[in-house]
Amino acid sequence: MTTVGILGGGQLARMIALSGAPLGLRFLVLDNAADACAGQFAPMVVGDYTDDAALSEFASRIDIATFDFENVPSAAAEWLSQRVPVFPGPRALAVAQDRLAEKTMFRELGIPVPEFRDVPHRAALDAAVAALGTPCILKTRRLGYDGKGQFRIRAAADVDAAWAALGAQAARVGLILEAFVPFERELSVVAVRGRDGTFHTWPLTENWHVDGVLSASLAPARTDSAMQAQAIAHARAVAEKLDYVGVFALELFCRDGVLLANEMAPRVHNSGHWTIEGSETSQFQNHLRAVLGLPLGDTRMVGQACMLNWIGAMPDPASVLREPGGHWHDYGKSPRAGRKVGHATLRGESAGELADALRRVGIALGRESQVAPVVMELAR
Ligand code: AMP
Repeated sequence: MTTVGILGGGQLARMIALSGAPLGLRFLVLDNAADACAGQFAPMVVGDYTDDAALSEFASRIDIATFDFENVPSAAAEWLSQRVPVFPGPRALAVAQDRLAEKTMFRELGIPVPEFRDVPHRAALDAAVAALGTPCILKTRRLGYDGKGQFRIRAAADVDAAWAALGAQAARVGLILEAFVPFERELSVVAVRGRDGTFHTWPLTENWHVDGVLSASLAPARTDSAMQAQAIAHARAVAEKLDYVGVFALELFCRDGVLLANEMAPRVHNSGHWTIEGSETSQFQNHLRAVLGLPLGDTRMVGQACMLNWIGAMPDPASVLREPGGHWHDYGKSPRAGRKVGHATLRGESAGELADALRRVGIALGRESQVAPVVMELAR
């Protein structure tokens, strides 16, 4: 009986554990919150990633470790990797934790990126804004997620406010300035690489964000095969460079038909939740297959799929459950503003069928604005 340890006990760990049950796997979750939602399905060690005693107990009870959270301190990942196999490896994690290291790697691989500059101090910010022009975005290099740790500089007059907001972080987590990309749309590619180097991607997904948080995803994104090929080539280049094992996502901006890499997430990703019902093998199960050295499953789609995120509180499930292609995921979390508490996936055999289901659910839940951009895209 194999026990997979997961660092981080949020909804990603929960969905990994659920997908691993048919493989006969056991799980152990490490999280500092005793009520972490993966704990409803898997035993937990409650403790911090930097707590030696918690980490030791965790290591002694697992055969292999993986992550639901990329900001695990690299020292903890290194320590663990000396005791049990850890996938993805600490080096991949270290690069993906740092926006500067990650963008530098993308550029070295020939993957287009928004222009960027390291901002170690205030004078560097002035120089970077002068070089990149406005608008631009100041971001923390580490520990940012869902649009947190970011400040949009619309004009040079905003530089003081940007520094006031984030300057104190420069010494702690570093800062990076990025040119603002007036993208036509946001896409992501979720990919998996096995221990033997086998590589697959799921179809390119289009994503819509509200206040920096993912609101809806549509798969397959309505793109041509050339753009699909660009995305696959970029993801493969990253995976091979990092000798990556497991699932990761590459977040992309599409501008004038060119894909620019925004960031990578070294884990299963919110924009891949639709794969649970919308593809032959989900990102969660393929992540486990990859880290355990099992054959990877096929990533082909089953119909077309749209995922809607539930942020803050769960809506009434009835309208989704009533749909023939409707699937409900309640993460078992208590409601809180801005928190991802669940999602729904709607599946249809055709774009028209999916759009009709989205319209019905949008009206029933009073969430027409959440489904509208997807419905419009499906009508294109
Ligand atoms: P991130 O945390 O980097 O994924 O950023 C959150 C969201 O902010 C992205 O999904 C974009 O909608 C937006 N964003 C981030 N960076 C840029 C950029 N350089 N240009 C335009 N929009 C951006």
